[in-house]
Amino acid sequence: MSANKQRLNESLINYDPPEWVSKLDNVPKHRVQLVHPDTPIHRWYVPGVPEDFELYIKRDDMTGSQLSGNKVRKLEFLLADAISKGCSTIITCGGIQSNHSRATTISGHQLGLKTHLLLKSTELDPEKATCKGNVLLDRLVGTHIHLIPGDAVYNEDIHQRMENFKKKISEEKGEKAYSIPCGGTNSIGLFGYVQTFQELLKQKVPDNFTDIAVAVGSGGTIGGLSMSNYLSNSHLRIHGMLVGDTGEYFHSEINKALDGLNWSEKHPGVQSQDMCEMYEEAQGRGYALSSPDELEFISAVAEATGILLDPVYTGKAAFHLIKMMKEKPECFKGKKVLFIHTGGMFALFDGRMDDMVRMKGSLTNRIDAWIDVDKVPEIN
Ligand SMILES: *Cc1c(COP(=O)(O)O)cnc(C)c1O
Repeated sequence: MSANKQRLNESLINYDPPEWVSKLDNVPKHRVQLVHPDTPIHRWYVPGVPEDFELYIKRDDMTGSQLSGNKVRKLEFLLADAISKGCSTIITCGGIQSNHSRATTISGHQLGLKTHLLLKSTELDPEKATCKGNVLLDRLVGTHIHLIPGDAVYNEDIHQRMENFKKKISEEKGEKAYSIPCGGTNSIGLFGYVQTFQELLKQKVPDNFTDIAVAVGSGGTIGGLSMSNYLSNSHLRIHGMLVGDTGEYFHSEINKALDGLNWSEKHPGVQSQDMCEMYEEAQGRGYALSSPDELEFISAVAEATGILLDPVYTGKAAFHLIKMMKEKPECFKGKKVLFIHTGGMFALFDGRMDDMVRMKGSLTNRIDAWIDVDKVPEIN
């Protein structure tokens, strides 16, 4: 065995699934350790939460530093699957600032895998490609970035491109490559949030909360949480804040992932639609497009609570959650709500927050120059 194969194989650990998933088919047998587990849960005093609600936050933005967020949870299972199948290269895809792609790349390089990213971009000239946000980290670890047209669609051509690339690697290098779909959402990726639900049980979340709210971008996070909530009889109500696309699309993606586990045979008549709520309004202007209220909300939350939300996922999700608490409290099962912070901090460095921070009169524009020792600045 080559030294690198040995390094890869050493990272595999046996996965011991909770008893309530053991009856499903195709439960993963291995995982790798990437996550800092047992992320904290604490009260979250976001401005605007109605007085009769209590809002808490689970800090999955603390699953790591460069690996922070929800994607690394899924990657523990996806990369273990790749390694156990003898693959040495990982190919995945996403938007130019994809958190999933960044987490895949960095995890891959921690384990000893080569990585290729297909990133959707309106700028297709490699010389002019950005170095901001997640892309800086992607490029720093030396992943191969392939810019693809901004309007490319996964089910139409991105999947095909990844298949073609795998074939080329096998023909020209004699190596096996492994492709991971958008956001790492499939029947293996779901186990990242099955594992997290075990943490939530350990943290007594079903005893102490009535509702969970989370951002939805490819569906794997809410899918894993909802199936675990159902299978463990936890009776939380799970709310998905969509950052793009439609509820119908995500339910169908989650049902497809569940079918990989032979779900419909084991639990006939129970589908994603029966296990969680999806809110399309949360996306505002659409995927990765921000509105001034959303950006102001991010800075108000940062000031009041010290928690940093990102403009693409968690900022929109929390913004809509507070709006629903005010305008549609009847949507919630009760009054104790846990928001799952899914990470995404590096998107704050993509440039869009700069003008907001500099805006005269904004909360974040408290800056002056203090030249003479005796001329003490105004306190404002
Ligand atoms: C990908 C992502 C999500 C959405 O999770 P899915 O499992 O893809 O639905 C939420 N928040 C952040 C920061 C993300 O990067």
